[in-house]
Amino acid sequence: MTKDEDDVQIEISRVEPSSARMCAGCGRSGDRHAFMRVVLDDNGSLVVDLQRSSFGRGANLHVDPTCIKRALRGGFARAFRSEIVTTMSAFREMGQLAVERRLRGLLVSAWRKRVLAVGADAVRDLSAHGGAIRAVVANDAGSIAQERFVLEMVTNGAVLVAFRRGELGALLGRPEVSVCATSDVGIAQELDRLHALQMSFSSLSSQNESA
Ligand SMILES: [Zn+2]
Repeated sequence: MTKDEDDVQIEISRVEPSSARMCAGCGRSGDRHAFMRVVLDDNGSLVVDLQRSSFGRGANLHVDPTCIKRALRGGFARAFRSEIVTTMSAFREMGQLAVERRLRGLLVSAWRKRVLAVGADAVRDLSAHGGAIRAVVANDAGSIAQERFVLEMVTNGAVLVAFRRGELGALLGRPEVSVCATSDVGIAQELDRLHALQMSFSSLSSQNESA
């Protein structure tokens, strides 16, 4: 994926009708940044296209569990003019995996650009300098998750919880990483978007599975 996102967006708007910026769940239109794009893959499965890089027919959907549920109950079938066979839990799992995959790519690119503070000491230093930062904290971060600098970031909605320490470490060239953070504006915006998506997907409860 080397294409500039703006180039890709221009191509997409050329092939999709202007009505494509309408939510497949609630039917309201809006700014593209409020939407996630969902495409049908070759197997007829719904795939969240987080980098908006897949061509072909796509549906836009608000990053909102209510809209996701409505789309699964008929909105996607209308948008794609085809029967969509999936369940809420399958869609949730697909979405969560897509968010994790995108998050991995984002963290590695932040690390390569040297705009990622890695480890508790580096993140504590970064947070002490003030300014807007976004952090990723491992699921099994343990006592570090209770430290004041982390709790303050959680209060500010600046923390995305994902991966285990070993997984984060493998991405960033260390045995284990409990926390990493960035103050890079572009990456922080993308982390916010992933955070909203993660919360939306995780709130799709399987007990609301439609019949
Ligand atoms: Zn909607």
